[in-house]
Amino acid sequence: MSKFPLLSLSPLGPSDIQEQLDSEFECHLVGRDGSLEELLERVGGQVTALVTTGGRGAEAELIERLPKLQVIACYGVGVDAIDLVTAARHGAAVTNTPDVLTDDVADLAVFLLGALHRLIVRGDSWVRAGEWARSGGIPLGRCLRGRRAGILGLGRIGEATAQRLEAFGMEILYHKRSPLPDSNWSYLDSPVALAEQCDDLIVCCSGGSATHHLVDEKILNALGPESTLVNIARGSVVDETALVAALRAGGIGGAALDVFENEPEVPEALFDLDNVVLAPHIGSATWETRRAMGTLVLDNLRAHRDGRKLLTAVE
Ligand code: NAP
Repeated sequence: MSKFPLLSLSPLGPSDIQEQLDSEFECHLVGRDGSLEELLERVGGQVTALVTTGGRGAEAELIERLPKLQVIACYGVGVDAIDLVTAARHGAAVTNTPDVLTDDVADLAVFLLGALHRLIVRGDSWVRAGEWARSGGIPLGRCLRGRRAGILGLGRIGEATAQRLEAFGMEILYHKRSPLPDSNWSYLDSPVALAEQCDDLIVCCSGGSATHHLVDEKILNALGPESTLVNIARGSVVDETALVAALRAGGIGGAALDVFENEPEVPEALFDLDNVVLAPHIGSATWETRRAMGTLVLDNLRAHRDGRKLLTAVE
């Protein structure tokens, strides 16, 4: 079988997954095999598949430089950085990696919220700095039990997060554009109503233009000084300037963030705030999940190469 030429913008999963990609396909990996520009000049005219990540995506200019492109395989679930209109115009199908990362991202949402309320990161710094012995314990935290979690975007990750938080004794409220038909959880018909009613707003919706700055100054004001924000979705969903201002002014009680507007840049104004927990976009970053994601990318590419139906096509 002739090898299927593909351009990969990022290595796939644990190294053995990338090795499988290299052995089964003619993989041109940016960084390892040349710069993007060099690879586009050398093989851009031949590649039929593009491997990218949720964060890197594929902009129109890139897609247009791959005239034989048939499939874009995204190593991640969010496809907001892929120009889907241009891909469709070029006849290129798009795949992503839903479901296999849901549990890890939901776990992280819970861990971040717990770390924020139980002062785990602050306590760690306190112990390491010798302050426990010098000054005694840190202030009291808050328990999750009895608080109201507001899930903004109750899809796969939102639902898995809600299930976990319910097990911690939290009440679940949610907002999405179309309410779930049979749910015991309380539906609020707008993001601002959700922010007004909840204690902890957990952002779990998709990114992209439809949700850009959905969490703005108005929502942060509606949350108020006793409430917190967790974002494990996309940095673009939250107006970061408004968030920094609200945190610095005490307008909201705290934030735990896995995603940022201009990753890997994080506003330095957050660094000296002890009511903030920061993570470097690690929602799916476990060996198990990255292996499952890499395998799903490979399986989609194999299906396309062999003329079978794609496993997880983005409709
Ligand atoms: P999903 O199942 O498609 O869920 C997305 C949810 O967002 C749906 O409930 C959708 O409901 C809601 N939504 C979309 N637009 C909305 C709007 N304008 N207002 C309110 N809700 C809206 O996706 P998923 O698998 O749960 O993933 C969610 C997102 O998590 C991904 O898109 C990705 O960006 C992010 N993610 C982050 C990490 C990480 O490492 N931190 C990892 C994986 C994924 P309606 O359509 O009814 O509104």
